[in-house]
Amino acid sequence: MPVASPSPKMIELNTNLLAVLGIAPQWFDSDAGLATLSGNGDYAQPPIAMAYAAHQFGHWVPLLGDGRAHMLGQIADTTVGSIDVQLKGSGRTRFSRNGDGLATLGSVLREYIVSEAMAGLGIPSTRALAVIGTGKKVMREEVFPGALLVRTARSHIRVGSFQFAATSQGEDGVKALAEFVIAHYFPELTDRQEKYLELLEVVIDRQASLVAQWMLVGFIHGVMNTDNMSIVGETIDYGPCAFMDEFHPEKVFSSIDRNGRYAWGQQPSIALWNLAQFAGTLMPFIHPDANEAETLVKSRLDNFAPQFRHAFNTGMRRKLCIDDSVSSEEISNLSETTLGAMTESQIDFTVFFDLLTRTAAGESSASLLQLFKDDGKGEAWLALWQSLRSDNPDIIKGMREANPAIIARNHRVEEAIEAAVKHRDFSPFHRLCKALADPYNVDPADTKLQTPPSQTERVTQTFCGT
Ligand code: AMP
Ligand code: MG
Repeated sequence: MPVASPSPKMIELNTNLLAVLGIAPQWFDSDAGLATLSGNGDYAQPPIAMAYAAHQFGHWVPLLGDGRAHMLGQIADTTVGSIDVQLKGSGRTRFSRNGDGLATLGSVLREYIVSEAMAGLGIPSTRALAVIGTGKKVMREEVFPGALLVRTARSHIRVGSFQFAATSQGEDGVKALAEFVIAHYFPELTDRQEKYLELLEVVIDRQASLVAQWMLVGFIHGVMNTDNMSIVGETIDYGPCAFMDEFHPEKVFSSIDRNGRYAWGQQPSIALWNLAQFAGTLMPFIHPDANEAETLVKSRLDNFAPQFRHAFNTGMRRKLCIDDSVSSEEISNLSETTLGAMTESQIDFTVFFDLLTRTAAGESSASLLQLFKDDGKGEAWLALWQSLRSDNPDIIKGMREANPAIIARNHRVEEAIEAAVKHRDFSPFHRLCKALADPYNVDPADTKLQTPPSQTERVTQTFCGT
């Protein structure tokens, strides 16, 4: 059961998300709502903590599970069927190991800001429904105020859930879980002859698309362990993640990722590695003959790289204002040249594409050129781009939706958290969330949120906050 909160307080209620879900906010503002969401409810239906296994940083952990989360239930949803509602930071469960099961206000606000930023960018993600102050004190490096995140997700089933089913329950367990996943999340596969193979295909497809979308906005997930990879293809687990400022393909922020396993440019190969773990659990149902099964699975996993490349290049095409007359090989080359030039000149990823969007729309290219360390190289890059770019007004307009003007920059996220945690001032948090909800249009009053950090503002490491 969730642990009781001594003095629960609704800190933030995401009324935008409620509106999307078609739910009136009244109950959430009531005593009964607050009690249910803060661990103080009656819970006629017992909440559940889910078991899962994982490869964490490549190391096999046979039993993990929700160590500080309780799923309260599901909301019926007319478009997708159901949405999970989970409390995070709600106390110890049988999977807590040595953890206290709690969350600090800072880590909860961080997940709120970044997951909502992801949703604002139109990238599949778990969502943040509410932040509740618990009144508990949480001991970390120092004592912090405790909080709970009310999180929604299409599903909390992960690659690690299949790994757990395989090792703890064997083939029957995996089959039951696969049947559940198909029935609830991919019902169109129910009557298909090769439904397990098709399940693998759709999971591969969603991950290829998701990782491409992350990379196209400079996002680094930070802990792509198999327990943090959702079967339905949503971004899940906002621990030490970050949007990068200046571009570098090997960029890592996570304080625990010492070897760069989950660096920006590593994410496709790690996703594929995780998908191979998922595929391994499905093998017995894909074909009765083990060799045949292996051939089939391998051919589907081999599709991941081209699928990812296609999704990434299609996105780069939009970001760079390039129409279909330019071949995919040319777009690949242009992407590589562009990212290479950005690495060399340590150019801010978001600023670059924002200024390029303005240049394409007819503004002067002077600011864009200033980003390059070497004038000659800037001119050469611009000439190359100009030789390939489209003049089609629709493509120019479409560039904006591929190039956010504002992202959840680390220093602004930290600033918002610090104001809230240290000074109980939630105005920077509110302002940042509001701006990130519409990242393609920046209110002139919010240009401060757009600018990259100065030397003293730079945040170079992010933490799990567990
Ligand atoms: P993560 O790296 O955030 O995916 O977490 C890995 C595992 O540690 C998950 O099973 C979490 O539920 C668990 N965990 C993280 N923080 C805590 C905590 N404060 N108390 C108990 N379990 C935790
Ligand atoms: Mg996790």
